[in-house]
Amino acid sequence: MKRPYNFSAGPAAMPQEVLTQAADEMLDWPDASGKRCGMGVMEMSHRGHEFLSIYAQAEADLRELLAVPANFQILFMQGGGLAENAIVPLNLSALKKDASGRGRADFVVTGSWSEKSQQEAAKYCGNHLAASGKPEGFTRIPDAGTWKLSADASYVHICSNETINGVEFHTLPDLKALGSKAELVVDFSSHVASRGVDWSRVGLAFGGAQKNLGPAGLTLVVVREDLLGHALAICPSAFNYKTVADNQSMYNTPPTYAIYVAGLVFQWLKRQGGIAAMERANIAKAELLYQTIDGSGLYFNKVHTDCRSRMNVPFFLQDESLNDAFLAGAKEAGLLQLKGHKSVGGMRASIYNAIPLEGVQALCAYMQAFERSHG
Ligand SMILES: *Cc1c(COP(=O)(O)O)cnc(C)c1O
Repeated sequence: MKRPYNFSAGPAAMPQEVLTQAADEMLDWPDASGKRCGMGVMEMSHRGHEFLSIYAQAEADLRELLAVPANFQILFMQGGGLAENAIVPLNLSALKKDASGRGRADFVVTGSWSEKSQQEAAKYCGNHLAASGKPEGFTRIPDAGTWKLSADASYVHICSNETINGVEFHTLPDLKALGSKAELVVDFSSHVASRGVDWSRVGLAFGGAQKNLGPAGLTLVVVREDLLGHALAICPSAFNYKTVADNQSMYNTPPTYAIYVAGLVFQWLKRQGGIAAMERANIAKAELLYQTIDGSGLYFNKVHTDCRSRMNVPFFLQDESLNDAFLAGAKEAGLLQLKGHKSVGGMRASIYNAIPLEGVQALCAYMQAFERSHG
């Protein structure tokens, strides 16, 4: 069955092999030996040995794929990236106290998502704008050397891939080298598993699953163990990282089906050759699409070349009156969900792990044909 290519920013395309396997196992899940248990995963107790084996395998596979060091906990939570905007300050803002006796966090704002994170954190802790790409329309990441980091911040928040603005950190900042003693908190929702992570620079990373890992409803948190146990008293128990960690993410019922499907994605990633292989494929896909955009007279992308996202590629048509025709023709050609985010307009192609090179080739061929007939 040949399905259209789906360029949605999230919830986003899933590997077809994973959907096929989930469908096959929907009514009667087989264990690793192939023995069926008479239940689908949605119907299992999260405390039964069947689901516990699914959970343990998913966690081990993710740890291996992302090379998560042993002193980091992997938490499978709920609430998405936006809930983490509150959960992180509730848990980490009191790591240090500033001059006023409050915890505080520094924010590097590089697009819509980090901007939202700062606004939410302001409810729970002192917060400081260390740098902002807003004056330049979020088309580049302010050079780390210019960041105005606080001496007493508990953590510095960045969004390592801005899903809406198409801006990506290609290396994580080294806060120690910048003279900061704060922990680095990374929202990696929209490029997790597309490339490696330098954990030596990270205190905590979080991401919603629905961009690059699996179904909506699951939120991944990877946190260094010594950062657990500092939550504010008002932190809800189900969102206290230490409580979640102490209960192997089962303080309350976890999103069992989403964990199972994400686990199938992790196994698929391993079959593709792991994260290094995905990264090579993602570089090739992104290069092809940016070359097509830059080489055309009709399309353009405003992001500085050194921080263009490999995952989310916003682009615009010189003649915006052609937008509807572009989208209608794309749909006809089997290229879905290319409309840009409402806050920026234009188009956006999200080319996550599940989009093969052939999907990007099909998109580029369509873009070139559309330009020939409308340019
Ligand atoms: C999608 C996204 C979020 C929000 O995730 P929700 O699951 O909708 O809360 C946060 N940060 C980034 C970078 C995202 O791409």
